[in-house]
Amino acid sequence: MSWYDFMENPRTCPTCAWTGPGSETTMGDAFHDGSERHCPKCGHYFGYWVYPLISESLTDPRAPGEDCLFAEVVMERVAEIHAAEAIAKAARGGPPKQLLLRFS
Ligand SMILES: [Zn+2]
Repeated sequence: MSWYDFMENPRTCPTCAWTGPGSETTMGDAFHDGSERHCPKCGHYFGYWVYPLISESLTDPRAPGEDCLFAEVVMERVAEIHAAEAIAKAARGGPPKQLLLRFS
């Protein structure tokens, strides 16, 4: 079950019978890859949920706008890193053909 599945699907607390979507649960301890989710009424622990993957944020229609924007920024940054690595590699070993054609 993905983050977006958890946030959208109804949950029922086995302790107090609260019912609501995962998005209405409260966040417990949060870590770099996910967070604990608790019942908003009694604090029952529903489990640890891993945040969406970048690919999920880009493709899942339930992803909110801020998730899509974050994923797009990450993908741009990854492209910049790959370009910088290619330039550094070319500087060490000579430029690849594409750069020779462009800059010669
Ligand atoms: Zn509860």
